[in-house]
Amino acid sequence: MEKAIRITGIESAIAYLQLIAHVFVLSKCGKFAVVSNACKRCGGVGRISTFSYVEDGICFECDGVNTENSTKMVPIVQYARAQKSKEAARLRRLEKAAAANARHEQREQARAAKLESLKQAARDASKHLGTVGKREVFEIKVKKVLEFDGYYGSTWLHICETNSGSVVIYKTGSRLDVREGATIRVKATVSEHTERDGVAQTVIKRAKLTHTLIGGK
Ligand SMILES: [Zn+2]
Repeated sequence: MEKAIRITGIESAIAYLQLIAHVFVLSKCGKFAVVSNACKRCGGVGRISTFSYVEDGICFECDGVNTENSTKMVPIVQYARAQKSKEAARLRRLEKAAAANARHEQREQARAAKLESLKQAARDASKHLGTVGKREVFEIKVKKVLEFDGYYGSTWLHICETNSGSVVIYKTGSRLDVREGATIRVKATVSEHTERDGVAQTVIKRAKLTHTLIGGK
């Protein structure tokens, strides 16, 4: 919208500054902006307190002259053009930040959607196996073995999966003699059918390793 005004003279300069709601002081003659001419380094006070150990903190920029209330007259056209380029830079920064934000948001959404679809695939694939209380043969891949230390010694949690994606959990005080990644055949009793995050889990007990089909890592 600001770009609609081209600053060609005093009138359009003032119109532009009003358009962007820029607060400034116009000189009595109407041709200048009256702006502070205070030393930028010390703010016009002439001394910098954090440097008070060097020559009493006198500002090297203004040699300690108090310029707090000093003003200068900047031709209004020049002043408005400077404000315009500042405003343009500010808008560019805002646009850049908004674009970066949008990209970030998009990536997050894609990541969440992918995670959700993986979870859904796991939910769809996993089925309860066997009959609770019965001994069955399972052909499973040992995906992860977790060890937990307790008062009575270690407990191992074997997280396994059939080749059709059904999750089988085996918790025991004695680790199966297999590596992670191994595909094995066990004979075990179905302890219970549970669910975790919507994924059906078949919990087994008293598993006896009968075959190691693929050795794993
Ligand atoms: Zn100064």
